[in-house]
Amino acid sequence: MPPCGRFAPSPTGELHLGNLRTALLAFLSARHSGLDFIVRMEDLDRITSSRANEAAQLRDLAALGLHWDGAVVRQSERFDRYDAAIETLAAADRTYECFCTRREIRDAVSAPQAERTGSTVLVADGAYPGTCRELTAAATAELRDAGRRPALRLRAGSTVVEVEDRLHGIVRGVVDDVVLRRNDGVPAYNLAVVVDDAAQHVSEVVRGDDLLSSTPRQVLLQRWLGLPTPAYLHVPLVLGGDGVRLAKRHGDVTLQALAGRGIDPPAVLGLLAASLRLSEPGESVTVDNLVDRFDPDRLPREPWVIGADLQRSTT
Ligand code: GLU
Repeated sequence: MPPCGRFAPSPTGELHLGNLRTALLAFLSARHSGLDFIVRMEDLDRITSSRANEAAQLRDLAALGLHWDGAVVRQSERFDRYDAAIETLAAADRTYECFCTRREIRDAVSAPQAERTGSTVLVADGAYPGTCRELTAAATAELRDAGRRPALRLRAGSTVVEVEDRLHGIVRGVVDDVVLRRNDGVPAYNLAVVVDDAAQHVSEVVRGDDLLSSTPRQVLLQRWLGLPTPAYLHVPLVLGGDGVRLAKRHGDVTLQALAGRGIDPPAVLGLLAASLRLSEPGESVTVDNLVDRFDPDRLPREPWVIGADLQRSTT
């Protein structure tokens, strides 16, 4: 398998302009470096994911000209690989069972996180405070008897990990005891992404900068599983006119909705390219033009705030 870049959406809905812009960047960066470009469906959560969403996402990528190499891989079909990685970590005594509910974690984190905000070390979103780290066998048995089902967490030891990002430079993060397997038995995102990036020979990860704070977790997992670390490029997100990350409430900004308003896929490609300063506003471009023009060192560092005309709702 040749080295590649990748786009790894969760098929939980249609792709919106923000997702499409990240996909375009991942594609351009891979092609610009002569790498293959693959698409991986992160459908670990089979309740929120669907084949219909997957088909719609692939249709939209193809409509923009973002053609991928090889077959699309689904995480829902690879649980054996994730289980094997978890076994490796468990055998090295790097895991423990956690019985906390979300609410218990929320209540427990407020104090320690506030203390850490002055530090230059990044604390991952939803960092776990370690409540169940040293549970006794008796306490564990009691929780089980009470019907609680445990998740499995990484015993990360608050390890500080340095990550090099093409846009953000060196980022340091203190790794929390991240979930490896949820309490419903489903492998967790950070574990699966690390296993798959290695298995698929992903040599560069281009994705939204909302995932930057999770990257130290992923790099620690790579080290402890003996897997290589890809190059990282975390790109700014797309924001609605209110300065908040693009979401449904900003109106329907999917490719289909935009087409219904007369903004067809080539026009959307033009808009995305102009937002990346790879074309002039209104200029007609193809992905091949953009691969030639792409320069990772000249990417905008600020989010793209979309105009009111684009975020108008059709409903
Ligand atoms: N599946 C994740 C998402 O849709 C992206 C994961 C990644 O790129 O590492 O947000």
